[in-house]
Amino acid sequence: MENREEQIAEYTNYCLNCKVKPCQKGCPLENDIPNFIQSVKNNKIEEAFQTLIKTTVLGSLCGRICPHFKQCQGSCVRGIKGNPVSIGEVEAYVFDKAIEKGLKINKEINESLKGKKVAIIGSGPSSLTAAAFLAREGITVTIYEKQEKLGGILRYGIPSFRLGKEILDKTINIILELGIKVKTEQNLEENLFLSDLEKEYDAVFLGIGANKSSKMEIEGEELKGVYGGNELLEKGIHPNYTGKKVAVIGGGNVAMDTARTIKRMGAEKVFVIYRRAEEQMPAEKKEIEEAKVEGIKFLFQNNIVKIIGNEKQEVEKIECIKTELVQKEGEVRKSPVNIIGSNYEMEMDYVVMAVGSKTDRELLSKLDMELTNYGYLKVNEKYQTSKKKIFAGGDLIGTKATVAWAARSGREAAKEIKEFLLLEKE
Ligand code: SF4
Repeated sequence: MENREEQIAEYTNYCLNCKVKPCQKGCPLENDIPNFIQSVKNNKIEEAFQTLIKTTVLGSLCGRICPHFKQCQGSCVRGIKGNPVSIGEVEAYVFDKAIEKGLKINKEINESLKGKKVAIIGSGPSSLTAAAFLAREGITVTIYEKQEKLGGILRYGIPSFRLGKEILDKTINIILELGIKVKTEQNLEENLFLSDLEKEYDAVFLGIGANKSSKMEIEGEELKGVYGGNELLEKGIHPNYTGKKVAVIGGGNVAMDTARTIKRMGAEKVFVIYRRAEEQMPAEKKEIEEAKVEGIKFLFQNNIVKIIGNEKQEVEKIECIKTELVQKEGEVRKSPVNIIGSNYEMEMDYVVMAVGSKTDRELLSKLDMELTNYGYLKVNEKYQTSKKKIFAGGDLIGTKATVAWAARSGREAAKEIKEFLLLEKE
């Protein structure tokens, strides 16, 4: 079997080093892909690392968990007639090697920003990225995290079989080596108050995500045995699934991660129920394929309409309906429409809702800040909230829910915070 070096050499030799860089355009972080691939090809890992850290500090993670087929690899010229270059694997390789060699993320101290202090709330991809890009300029950065360890969704939302904790720890370490301070077990508006942070810091970045499972508002959703996918993944508190039948509702990555986790925990049958077609699933193709191999059953173009309980108010059955896809006027993609009379029942022990994620409305209401109509924290084009000193990014502001997009918003917000601090100084 080929070793990793040989495989990487194969990938880099396969790259055409396109001058127009379509892959870079497909990357949410706009990583200079052709350039770093050429550096790897020439065995210049440090050079490749230097190219990548201009735009990202999460290469080991994005290289592993990004939906590459929808992003960089989806735009790769090689993909037109065959397989695209395995860009993600090369990116992860560069960061892994750099970490192994003890390379550091460089600082470019901006003397005008010396002495400035920024608080970062949360430690998911947008927060870690914002923290790194601010600390690189010489700003004093403190991360406040509610959990015991840093990582946010990366640690508490993505299962270890998809992203190993060791590589996450290593990535966090090279970011913290920039001199970032960390305070854990800090719960916003419980033992950590935004009003205090506003007084203590020159600016605050909020990156607390949107990790509450949305509800479908169907009959029976209040029964015992109905859970939210986000909460199961985040808290890791599960019922005993051994020998049980579980329905996971939804088609995104949370649905896939939840279904695969539950199957690993001994469930007899796990069904993913998705009202659209397979090709419309937002989850990554690779995740869907792996889930199928692991024995998860997919019910595409099926929708749950009711959860039926027993006398103890526990889940006993679900009622589903088949759907057909209809092209509606003004809509880009076909919409699922229930087929009247196609209802059927299935015996089920647990139901997990993974139909979307939303912000923690209760917490946001305490912050007294403007929200969008969809319940996200409202920011202007400078990532500034309705409170001048407070900036925000990632899922909390409704950024497309992928690690790379969250990281990009963290990087861009850091740039805006920097501009804000420079202006405040004048
Ligand atoms: Fe290489 Fe594909 Fe990017 Fe072209 S589009 S430079 S082949 S990775």
